[in-house]
Amino acid sequence: MNILLTGGAGYIGSHTSVMLLESGHDVVVLDNLCNSKAASLKRVEEITGKKILFYQEDLCDLAGVNEIFRQNSIDAVIHFAGLKSVAESVEQPLRYYQNNINGTLVLCEVMQANGVKNLVFSSSATVYGNPETVPINENAPVGAFNPYGRSKLFIEKILTDLYLSDKKWNIALLRYFNPVGAHLSGLIGEDPSDLPNNLMPYISQVAVGQLQKLLIYGDDYETPDGTGVRDYIHVMDLAQGHLKALEKLNSGPGLVTYNLGTGKGYSVLEMVAAYEKASGKQIPCQIVGRRPGDIPTCYANPCLAEKELGWTARRGIDEMCTDAWRWQYLNPKGYV
Ligand code: NAD
Ligand code: UDP
Repeated sequence: MNILLTGGAGYIGSHTSVMLLESGHDVVVLDNLCNSKAASLKRVEEITGKKILFYQEDLCDLAGVNEIFRQNSIDAVIHFAGLKSVAESVEQPLRYYQNNINGTLVLCEVMQANGVKNLVFSSSATVYGNPETVPINENAPVGAFNPYGRSKLFIEKILTDLYLSDKKWNIALLRYFNPVGAHLSGLIGEDPSDLPNNLMPYISQVAVGQLQKLLIYGDDYETPDGTGVRDYIHVMDLAQGHLKALEKLNSGPGLVTYNLGTGKGYSVLEMVAAYEKASGKQIPCQIVGRRPGDIPTCYANPCLAEKELGWTARRGIDEMCTDAWRWQYLNPKGYV
């Protein structure tokens, strides 16, 4: 198949590109590089020995996006493009809604006009807000509580309405838990453009000496060691989930929603210990107050994806940390 990846130069998109190319698909990438570098795609080509057709384009530019569909016979789209910082979304809600929601509207309009109706969307576990129970099923109540999360939730609802209006659409809403790690080669990985917001890239930058110490946001949660618990999933397992979702869409399922997580929760302290073991480096830490908006515990029930996609995450936290560290020490300043 010829697959268009919006936001394909980013962290998850670049890893998914490797998976798609190695599975014999062709990849077209649309990315405005607002949070990534074209070098990631060159590295993907180096890993796979295959070419990517890259368009530096903003998803909100309808004419530009339409031109990409006119020039290429696209079979399906994986829609990664979006702004993803929770903190930034609180400061700049209009920018987040404009970029994430308008970009999706433009994409869907162009897809519809060109008769392309198979779409995989990057949603997030953040749509569950503070879950009432764990593990979280796909039918758990939703209710995000920051603009980033709400943009994901609104897009899920827009895509649901689109499907209800025209049952020829096949749409997979993939709710990712916490993607971490990197490709085994160490050639591609997560490369935050600013100070990392997320735990794993922050630990990596402490380990490689770019940052002095990790601030641990709270040790007074109702969790086994008091620190926050999350479901960390290796980015290559996540990439595999996209391949399986694309295959599923070919069977005409309509609108489907899947959690992509491991089903296991690890605390901040457990992740620090695993990273120290993988890297052989000590990670200086300081316990500070809770980060506003953080929830104590979040992990998936991934059984539906296993049952319906035949997909399950295979890699554990030791492999996640080993691969994250390899990427970080080989590329201490990212793609620069
Ligand atoms: P990323 O920032 O590395 O990749 C997103 C890409 O989209 C970037 O390359 C960016 O340049 C591009 N982009 C943004 N707005 C664009 C626009 N208007 N036009 C064209 N390109 C645009 O992020 P990622 O970690 O790879 O995340 C991919 C998707 O998965 C995002 O939608 C994100 O919200 C979602 N997600 C990520 C996580 C995570 O922790 N990484 C968790 C859940 C969901
Ligand atoms: N966390 C932390 N220090 C950091 C970044 C994150 O202690 O510098 C904690 C955070 O409070 C949460 C966990 O690590 O308990 C995962 O945070 P992340 O931002 O990576 O994911 P999210 O909270 O969005 O699931």
